[in-house]
Amino acid sequence: MTVQWNPESGRVVALTGAGISAESGIPTFRGKDGYWTVGSVVYHPMELATAAAFARMPDEVWQWYLYRRTVCRAAAPNPAHDALVRLERHAGDRFRLLTQNVDGLHLRAGNSLERTYQIHGNIDFMRCARDCAPGAVPIPDDVGELAAGEPVGDRQRALLVCPHCGGPARPHVLWFDEYYDEPHYRWDSSLAAASEASLLIIVGSTAQTNLPNHVAQLAAVRGATIVDINIEDNPFAALAQGSGGQVLRGPAGTLLPELVDAIVAG
Ligand code: NAD
Ligand code: ZN
Repeated sequence: MTVQWNPESGRVVALTGAGISAESGIPTFRGKDGYWTVGSVVYHPMELATAAAFARMPDEVWQWYLYRRTVCRAAAPNPAHDALVRLERHAGDRFRLLTQNVDGLHLRAGNSLERTYQIHGNIDFMRCARDCAPGAVPIPDDVGELAAGEPVGDRQRALLVCPHCGGPARPHVLWFDEYYDEPHYRWDSSLAAASEASLLIIVGSTAQTNLPNHVAQLAAVRGATIVDINIEDNPFAALAQGSGGQVLRGPAGTLLPELVDAIVAG
């Protein structure tokens, strides 16, 4: 691999999507595992992951998130996550990680919270559904694990409340009918990181959401070299080619450790 990064030239920024966690056994939204049945209706994630769905059927939306949280907690980081921990150790404060994943695997692998921007939230956290106070809190351990199809009961409902006002809590995730912001989702910090990047590594993500697109476009305009790692073609590949970077086609768990080895070796 010929990708190099000089710390004097700018930051090294990684932007990760659901694909980096696929080898940890966490389904992306695109596969058949993304769909979810409520009663006799089969929902696509883009319908369920909305404030509108939560307003209409909070128990069912919580049920889906608590099941997915169970899947995420049972999963372990894979070699692609580990590679980004090595990259942070190598680059120190020149490193930033922007992740679309809510699974928390980057933090569990060992990346620092300070340099990791969870731009879609974290499935292990909740916050006030009425927005009475800023900040998210961990979902209480006593909520427990939920198997597929297991409904939310009174015990869980009593725990899924705002610690400040006692009103209902919601999952700490960005929904499809909501906007990014800085306090919850690090919008400004992410764009700042992109504008200072000299190397942007995009892993397992498609240009489907707003902030990742802005990040990639901004980094490209500022002259960053872009690398796109994905098992499939996607719109970031053209940006990578135009930047003089690389398009690497294959699983992140194999390709990202190789790329990081090359960067660390200089
Ligand atoms: P996405 O749009 O980021 O698509 C996943 C990408 O990963 C695809 O381009 C696919 O080709 C690629 N991919 C799959 N396996 C790969 C592998 N082994 N190596 C490299 N690339 C691989 O993600 P999505 O599933 O459509 O989800 C959209 C949003 O929903 C996410 O950004 C996230 O907010 C949320 N989501 C999060 C998780 C998670 O936390 N793990 C999982 C599903 C969805
Ligand atoms: Zn509250």
